Amino acid sequence: MSSAPRLPASVHVFVRDWLSANNVLLKSRDGHVLVDTGYVQHADLTLALVASHRGLAGEPLAKIVNTHGHSDHVGGNAALAARYACPIAVPAAEAPLFEAWDERRLLYGYADQHVDRFAVDERIGSGSVHPWGDLEWLALAAPGHDMGALVFYNAEHRVLISGDALWQRGFGFVMPRAMDPAAMPATRATLDMLASLDVRTVIPGHGEPFDEVASSLDYAYQRLAAFEADDERVARYAAKAIFSYSLLHRRRFPEARLADYVQQVGFHRDLNAAVLRMAPQAFAAWLVDELLRAGAIRREGGDLVPATGEAG
Ligand SMILES: [Zn+2]
Repeated sequence: MSSAPRLPASVHVFVRDWLSANNVLLKSRDGHVLVDTGYVQHADLTLALVASHRGLAGEPLAKIVNTHGHSDHVGGNAALAARYACPIAVPAAEAPLFEAWDERRLLYGYADQHVDRFAVDERIGSGSVHPWGDLEWLALAAPGHDMGALVFYNAEHRVLISGDALWQRGFGFVMPRAMDPAAMPATRATLDMLASLDVRTVIPGHGEPFDEVASSLDYAYQRLAAFEADDERVARYAAKAIFSYSLLHRRRFPEARLADYVQQVGFHRDLNAAVLRMAPQAFAAWLVDELLRAGAIRREGGDLVPATGEAG
Protein backbone atom coordinates (compact mmCIF):
# COMPACT_ATOMS: atom_id res chain seq x y z
CA MET A 1 0.00 0.00 0.00
CA SER A 2 1.25 3.44 -0.80
CA SER A 3 0.11 6.59 0.93
CA ALA A 4 -0.89 9.74 -0.91
CA PRO A 5 2.19 11.77 -1.83
CA ARG A 6 2.92 14.87 0.20
CA LEU A 7 2.98 17.95 -1.98
CA PRO A 8 4.35 21.42 -1.18
CA ALA A 9 1.71 23.51 0.63
CA SER A 10 1.25 25.88 -2.32
CA VAL A 11 0.41 23.03 -4.74
CA HIS A 12 -3.27 22.05 -4.99
CA VAL A 13 -4.41 19.29 -7.33
CA PHE A 14 -7.99 18.85 -8.48
CA VAL A 15 -8.03 15.24 -9.66
CA ARG A 16 -10.51 14.98 -12.52
CA ASP A 17 -11.37 12.12 -14.88
CA TRP A 18 -10.55 11.00 -18.41
CA LEU A 19 -12.72 13.64 -20.07
CA SER A 20 -11.03 16.50 -18.21
CA ALA A 21 -7.34 16.56 -17.33
CA ASN A 22 -6.37 17.36 -13.73
CA ASN A 23 -6.15 21.01 -12.71
CA VAL A 24 -3.10 22.10 -10.69
CA LEU A 25 -3.44 25.33 -8.77
CA LEU A 26 -0.14 26.91 -7.65
CA LYS A 27 -0.98 29.47 -4.99
CA SER A 28 1.10 32.50 -4.10
CA ARG A 29 0.61 35.97 -2.72
CA ASP A 30 2.27 37.09 -5.96
CA GLY A 31 -0.62 35.60 -7.96
CA HIS A 32 -2.26 32.21 -8.32
CA VAL A 33 -1.48 30.12 -11.41
CA LEU A 34 -3.62 27.30 -12.82
CA VAL A 35 -2.05 24.53 -14.91
CA ASP A 36 -4.52 22.89 -17.36
CA THR A 37 -8.24 23.51 -17.47
CA GLY A 38 -10.19 20.35 -18.45
CA TYR A 39 -12.63 19.69 -21.29
CA VAL A 40 -15.03 22.39 -22.51
CA GLN A 41 -18.14 20.37 -21.65
CA HIS A 42 -17.15 20.47 -17.96
CA ALA A 43 -15.98 24.08 -17.92
CA ASP A 44 -18.67 24.98 -15.35
CA LEU A 45 -17.33 22.31 -12.99
CA THR A 46 -13.78 23.54 -13.56
CA LEU A 47 -14.88 27.11 -12.77
CA ALA A 48 -16.60 25.89 -9.58
CA LEU A 49 -13.59 23.86 -8.41
CA VAL A 50 -11.16 26.69 -9.11
CA ALA A 51 -13.39 29.20 -7.29
CA SER A 52 -14.02 26.88 -4.32
CA HIS A 53 -12.66 27.21 -0.80
CA ARG A 54 -9.91 24.72 -1.70
CA GLY A 55 -9.22 26.81 -4.77
CA LEU A 56 -9.04 30.57 -5.12
CA ALA A 57 -11.55 31.20 -2.31
CA GLY A 58 -12.49 34.61 -3.67
CA GLU A 59 -9.03 35.66 -4.83
CA PRO A 60 -8.16 36.42 -8.45
CA LEU A 61 -6.46 34.04 -10.86
CA ALA A 62 -3.25 35.56 -12.22
CA LYS A 63 -2.49 33.18 -15.06
CA ILE A 64 -3.56 30.05 -16.96
CA VAL A 65 -0.80 27.70 -18.13
CA ASN A 66 -1.16 24.64 -20.37
CA THR A 67 1.10 21.59 -20.56
CA HIS A 68 -0.13 21.03 -24.12
CA GLY A 69 -2.95 21.89 -26.45
CA HIS A 70 -5.16 18.79 -26.31
CA SER A 71 -8.84 19.45 -25.76
CA ASP A 72 -8.94 17.89 -22.28
CA HIS A 73 -6.18 20.26 -21.07
CA VAL A 74 -7.27 23.60 -22.59
CA GLY A 75 -11.06 23.28 -22.68
CA GLY A 76 -11.65 25.63 -19.73
CA ASN A 77 -9.22 28.29 -20.98
CA ALA A 78 -11.82 30.51 -22.65
CA ALA A 79 -14.28 30.41 -19.72
CA LEU A 80 -11.58 30.97 -17.07
CA ALA A 81 -9.93 33.80 -19.02
CA ALA A 82 -13.35 35.46 -19.37
CA ARG A 83 -14.13 35.05 -15.65
CA TYR A 84 -10.76 36.21 -14.31
CA ALA A 85 -9.47 38.44 -17.14
CA CYS A 86 -6.13 36.65 -16.84
CA PRO A 87 -3.52 35.82 -19.49
CA ILE A 88 -3.06 32.36 -21.04
CA ALA A 89 0.44 30.91 -21.39
CA VAL A 90 1.03 27.98 -23.75
CA PRO A 91 4.05 25.97 -24.90
CA ALA A 92 5.94 28.13 -27.41
CA ALA A 93 6.09 25.22 -29.86
CA GLU A 94 2.29 25.12 -30.02
CA ALA A 95 1.51 28.84 -29.99
CA PRO A 96 1.34 29.05 -33.82
CA LEU A 97 -1.24 26.23 -33.87
CA PHE A 98 -3.49 28.13 -31.47
CA GLU A 99 -2.97 31.40 -33.32
CA ALA A 100 -4.01 29.74 -36.58
CA TRP A 101 -6.60 27.66 -34.66
CA ASP A 102 -5.39 24.57 -36.50
CA GLU A 103 -8.20 22.13 -35.65
CA ARG A 104 -6.36 19.37 -37.47
CA ARG A 105 -2.94 19.53 -35.80
CA LEU A 106 -4.52 20.31 -32.41
CA LEU A 107 -6.76 17.24 -32.86
CA TYR A 108 -9.99 19.17 -32.28
CA GLY A 109 -12.60 18.86 -35.06
CA TYR A 110 -10.22 16.45 -36.80
CA ALA A 111 -10.57 14.02 -33.88
CA ASP A 112 -14.23 14.78 -33.08
CA GLN A 113 -13.37 17.04 -30.14
CA HIS A 114 -14.30 20.62 -29.42
CA VAL A 115 -12.55 23.57 -27.76
CA ASP A 116 -13.87 27.14 -27.38
CA ARG A 117 -11.34 29.35 -29.10
CA PHE A 118 -9.02 31.40 -26.89
CA ALA A 119 -6.17 33.85 -27.46
CA VAL A 120 -2.56 33.17 -26.55
CA ASP A 121 -0.95 35.84 -24.36
CA GLU A 122 2.37 34.25 -23.50
CA ARG A 123 4.68 31.59 -24.94
CA ILE A 124 6.61 29.30 -22.62
CA GLY A 125 9.92 28.07 -24.00
CA SER A 126 11.68 24.87 -22.96
CA GLY A 127 14.36 25.68 -20.40
CA SER A 128 12.55 28.71 -19.00
CA VAL A 129 11.99 29.01 -15.23
CA HIS A 130 8.76 30.23 -13.65
CA PRO A 131 8.07 31.36 -10.06
CA TRP A 132 4.62 29.81 -9.65
CA GLY A 133 3.23 29.03 -6.18
CA ASP A 134 6.41 30.44 -4.54
CA LEU A 135 8.37 27.60 -6.19
CA GLU A 136 10.70 27.50 -9.17
CA TRP A 137 9.30 25.46 -12.06
CA LEU A 138 11.56 24.52 -14.94
CA ALA A 139 9.67 24.08 -18.22
CA LEU A 140 11.03 21.16 -20.26
CA ALA A 141 10.06 20.04 -23.74
CA ALA A 142 8.34 16.64 -23.57
CA PRO A 143 7.43 15.72 -27.15
CA GLY A 144 5.88 12.38 -28.10
CA HIS A 145 2.20 12.06 -27.22
CA ASP A 146 2.01 15.73 -28.20
CA MET A 147 5.00 17.07 -30.13
CA GLY A 148 4.82 20.54 -28.57
CA ALA A 149 4.14 19.50 -24.96
CA LEU A 150 5.93 20.79 -21.88
CA VAL A 151 6.34 19.34 -18.41
CA PHE A 152 7.10 21.46 -15.35
CA TYR A 153 9.69 20.36 -12.79
CA ASN A 154 10.41 21.71 -9.33
CA ALA A 155 13.87 20.40 -8.38
CA GLU A 156 13.67 21.51 -4.75
CA HIS A 157 10.77 19.16 -3.97
CA ARG A 158 11.43 16.86 -6.98
CA VAL A 159 7.83 17.33 -8.14
CA LEU A 160 6.91 16.90 -11.81
CA ILE A 161 3.74 18.15 -13.49
CA SER A 162 3.79 15.65 -16.34
CA GLY A 163 0.67 16.31 -18.43
CA ASP A 164 0.19 13.22 -20.61
CA ALA A 165 3.93 12.48 -21.00
CA LEU A 166 3.90 10.12 -18.00
CA TRP A 167 1.03 8.56 -16.06
CA GLN A 168 1.23 6.01 -13.29
CA ARG A 169 0.40 3.39 -15.95
CA GLY A 170 1.70 4.53 -19.31
CA PHE A 171 1.31 7.79 -21.22
CA GLY A 172 -1.08 9.35 -23.71
CA PHE A 173 -1.54 7.71 -27.13
CA VAL A 174 1.20 8.33 -29.69
CA MET A 175 0.82 8.76 -33.44
CA PRO A 176 1.94 5.75 -35.48
CA ARG A 177 5.13 6.16 -37.51
CA ALA A 178 3.13 6.10 -40.73
CA MET A 179 1.45 9.36 -39.64
CA ASP A 180 4.30 11.03 -37.71
CA PRO A 181 7.71 9.37 -37.93
CA ALA A 182 9.08 11.67 -35.22
CA ALA A 183 6.55 10.82 -32.50
CA MET A 184 7.88 7.46 -31.32
CA PRO A 185 11.59 8.46 -31.12
CA ALA A 186 10.50 11.65 -29.32
CA THR A 187 8.53 9.58 -26.81
CA ARG A 188 11.65 7.56 -25.99
CA ALA A 189 13.80 10.70 -25.68
CA THR A 190 11.21 12.24 -23.36
CA LEU A 191 11.10 9.17 -21.10
CA ASP A 192 14.93 9.25 -20.97
CA MET A 193 14.80 12.93 -20.06
CA LEU A 194 12.20 12.30 -17.33
CA ALA A 195 14.22 9.36 -15.99
CA SER A 196 17.25 11.67 -15.65
CA LEU A 197 15.40 14.16 -13.42
CA ASP A 198 15.30 12.19 -10.16
CA VAL A 199 11.57 12.88 -9.72
CA ARG A 200 10.01 11.95 -6.37
CA THR A 201 6.36 12.82 -7.03
CA VAL A 202 4.47 13.01 -10.32
CA ILE A 203 1.30 15.07 -10.75
CA PRO A 204 -0.04 13.44 -13.93
CA GLY A 205 -2.61 14.86 -16.33
CA HIS A 206 -4.96 12.00 -15.41
CA GLY A 207 -5.12 9.99 -12.18
CA GLU A 208 -3.93 10.67 -8.65
CA PRO A 209 -0.47 12.12 -7.93
CA PHE A 210 1.97 9.30 -7.22
CA ASP A 211 5.40 8.55 -5.75
CA GLU A 212 6.05 5.24 -7.54
CA VAL A 213 8.11 6.96 -10.23
CA ALA A 214 10.57 4.14 -10.98
CA SER A 215 7.79 1.58 -11.53
CA SER A 216 5.80 4.01 -13.66
CA LEU A 217 8.88 4.62 -15.84
CA ASP A 218 9.45 0.84 -16.12
CA TYR A 219 5.87 0.36 -17.25
CA ALA A 220 6.12 3.27 -19.72
CA TYR A 221 9.33 1.85 -21.25
CA GLN A 222 7.69 -1.57 -21.63
CA ARG A 223 4.69 -0.08 -23.35
CA LEU A 224 6.97 2.02 -25.57
CA ALA A 225 9.03 -1.05 -26.57
CA ALA A 226 5.84 -2.87 -27.59
CA PHE A 227 4.78 0.18 -29.62
CA GLU A 228 8.20 0.53 -31.27
CA ALA A 229 7.98 -3.08 -32.41
CA ASP A 230 4.53 -2.79 -33.98
CA ASP A 231 3.13 0.32 -35.70
CA GLU A 232 -0.26 -1.34 -36.05
CA ARG A 233 -0.46 -1.72 -32.30
CA VAL A 234 0.21 2.02 -31.97
CA ALA A 235 -2.56 2.79 -34.46
CA ARG A 236 -5.02 0.44 -32.78
CA TYR A 237 -4.36 2.01 -29.38
CA ALA A 238 -4.76 5.53 -30.79
CA ALA A 239 -8.04 4.68 -32.54
CA LYS A 240 -9.44 3.14 -29.35
CA ALA A 241 -8.28 6.06 -27.17
CA ILE A 242 -9.73 8.70 -29.49
CA PHE A 243 -13.07 6.96 -30.02
CA SER A 244 -13.44 6.18 -26.29
CA TYR A 245 -12.81 9.84 -25.63
CA SER A 246 -15.47 10.91 -28.15
CA LEU A 247 -17.90 8.53 -26.49
CA LEU A 248 -17.23 10.19 -23.13
CA HIS A 249 -18.30 13.61 -24.37
CA ARG A 250 -21.04 12.31 -26.67
CA ARG A 251 -22.24 9.97 -23.86
CA ARG A 252 -23.83 7.62 -26.42
CA PHE A 253 -23.36 6.83 -30.06
CA PRO A 254 -25.60 4.79 -32.42
CA GLU A 255 -23.63 1.70 -33.39
CA ALA A 256 -25.22 1.60 -36.86
CA ARG A 257 -23.60 4.98 -37.64
CA LEU A 258 -20.07 4.00 -36.67
CA ALA A 259 -18.90 2.86 -40.11
CA ASP A 260 -19.88 6.25 -41.58
CA TYR A 261 -18.38 8.03 -38.61
CA VAL A 262 -14.91 6.46 -38.97
CA GLN A 263 -14.93 7.62 -42.61
CA GLN A 264 -16.06 11.14 -41.73
CA VAL A 265 -13.77 11.87 -38.76
CA GLY A 266 -10.38 12.74 -40.23
CA PHE A 267 -8.32 11.18 -37.45
CA HIS A 268 -9.91 7.74 -37.89
CA ARG A 269 -10.05 8.00 -41.67
CA ASP A 270 -6.34 8.89 -41.97
CA LEU A 271 -5.22 6.36 -39.34
CA ASN A 272 -7.13 3.64 -41.14
CA ALA A 273 -5.79 4.66 -44.55
CA ALA A 274 -2.19 4.91 -43.31
CA VAL A 275 -1.95 1.82 -41.10
CA LEU A 276 -4.99 -0.33 -40.42
CA ARG A 277 -6.36 -0.50 -43.97
CA MET A 278 -9.73 -2.01 -43.11
CA ALA A 279 -13.04 -1.51 -44.88
CA PRO A 280 -15.06 1.04 -42.85
CA GLN A 281 -17.56 -1.64 -41.75
CA ALA A 282 -14.72 -3.89 -40.61
CA PHE A 283 -12.97 -1.00 -38.84
CA ALA A 284 -16.18 -0.12 -36.99
CA ALA A 285 -16.88 -3.76 -36.03
CA TRP A 286 -13.29 -4.21 -34.82
CA LEU A 287 -13.45 -1.00 -32.73
CA VAL A 288 -16.67 -2.13 -31.03
CA ASP A 289 -15.35 -5.67 -30.37
CA GLU A 290 -12.11 -4.39 -28.89
CA LEU A 291 -13.74 -1.83 -26.61
CA LEU A 292 -16.41 -4.31 -25.46
CA ARG A 293 -13.72 -6.89 -24.73
CA ALA A 294 -11.69 -4.31 -22.78
CA GLY A 295 -14.79 -3.40 -20.75
CA ALA A 296 -14.50 0.22 -21.93
CA ILE A 297 -17.96 0.39 -23.48
CA ARG A 298 -21.26 -1.45 -23.41
CA ARG A 299 -24.27 -1.72 -25.67
CA GLU A 300 -27.53 -0.07 -24.65
CA GLY A 301 -30.33 -0.54 -27.16
CA GLY A 302 -28.67 0.27 -30.47
CA ASP A 303 -26.21 2.65 -28.83
CA LEU A 304 -22.66 2.37 -27.57
CA VAL A 305 -22.12 3.98 -24.14
CA PRO A 306 -19.02 4.36 -21.97
CA ALA A 307 -18.78 1.57 -19.38
CA THR A 308 -16.48 3.12 -16.80
CA GLY A 309 -15.61 6.62 -17.87
CA GLU A 310 -12.00 5.63 -18.50
CA ALA A 311 -10.68 6.32 -21.98
CA GLY A 312 -7.20 4.86 -21.47
ZN1 LIG B 1 -2.90 14.87 -24.34
